[in-house]
Amino acid sequence: MMAAELAQLAQDIKLWARELGFDQVGITDTDLALEEPRLQAWLDAGHHGTMDYMARHGMMRARPFDLLPGTLRVLSVRMNYLPFEAGFAATLRDPTLGYISRYALGRDYHKVLRNRLKQLGERIERRCAELFHTTTDPMGEWRPFVDSAPILERPLAAKAGLGWVGKHSLLLNESAGSFFFLGELLVSLPLPLDAPVEKEQCGKCVACINICPTGAIVAPYVVDGRRCISYLTIENDGPIPEEFRPLMGNRIYGCDDCQLICPWNRYADASPEPDFSPRPNLHRPPLIDLWGWSENEFLKHTEGSPIRRIGYQRWRRNLAVALGNGPATPEVMAALQQARPGAEPMVAEHIDWALATLARRQQDENKKTRLLIRCIEKGLPDHA
Ligand code: SF4
Ligand code: SF4
Repeated sequence: MMAAELAQLAQDIKLWARELGFDQVGITDTDLALEEPRLQAWLDAGHHGTMDYMARHGMMRARPFDLLPGTLRVLSVRMNYLPFEAGFAATLRDPTLGYISRYALGRDYHKVLRNRLKQLGERIERRCAELFHTTTDPMGEWRPFVDSAPILERPLAAKAGLGWVGKHSLLLNESAGSFFFLGELLVSLPLPLDAPVEKEQCGKCVACINICPTGAIVAPYVVDGRRCISYLTIENDGPIPEEFRPLMGNRIYGCDDCQLICPWNRYADASPEPDFSPRPNLHRPPLIDLWGWSENEFLKHTEGSPIRRIGYQRWRRNLAVALGNGPATPEVMAALQQARPGAEPMVAEHIDWALATLARRQQDENKKTRLLIRCIEKGLPDHA
């Protein structure tokens, strides 16, 4: 294919990507050699926690051509996901509600993005067939990826000009913030490259580092997965270390704090994508209602949602922690006590923690009330 045809194809790809609902697409090569030492240091420090697959795949994450031999270019795409009524503050402020990371309120993004990337690949394939006058393998091997393979998607997106990696380690875009999904289409076409963003624009800001409830951003650009609430509530399949439980508040699936505080998210657009609209029973849900779900109800309510993949026991574990961090009402205490017999051992241990925490809080509150009453009685004015 001639350079002019490739340049035209790259322009067409950008147009088609927009038509398919992507907010941006950039084209980069497969060279991530500069990222390898950083990845190795992160793995050596154990920041991946129990995500063994990260270590297992080693440097393959930085070598897309190992995933699909013959790959010459990566088309990096992004799609905004913020719902119109995100309700961040209203949910985080109310400890009786469960906070679910905003990306997980609607349909599983893996399915949405992979499907669109596949459509984009097929469109490129058809155009290549026209250009080459052939229908057999006109564009060579290509494959879409959305979190489904060991691939360093953020550095690739940065190289493709979609933004820069912020101090919270997520990709930031100057006109869209960070509330978007990323995906990749690996292709074997020598398309012209897009330029990376010239420099990162975090500057002296450290807001995300300071706001993180668990101190997970241990240095600029370095997130210790083992401390991150997203990891603790989603990837981690064991008990949540006790030191982090009180810090989690009502976050039952993921955490958005470092993104919420980020000044660049002032520019984040809401997504018109109906698949990302919040499901009513997951948007500002009362914790006590979620706690009442049987396993069958959990499976039914989370069908097609990314939440389903953590399974019922992790879901209950997270809920028990959030209930323990909420108000010590008789209704909550009774619901936890009722669920204790027969609970799976990990969940049972979290229920015990929640009950002990609530009982302590109740005692403290009673003590405070008694003290207040004594003070009032001692200093009662004559007319009271
Ligand atoms: S997602 Fe939450 S816990 Fe994880 S780094 Fe960001 S603020 Fe910290
Ligand atoms: S909060 Fe500040 S430091 Fe953190 S990613 Fe945003 S701009 Fe960068």
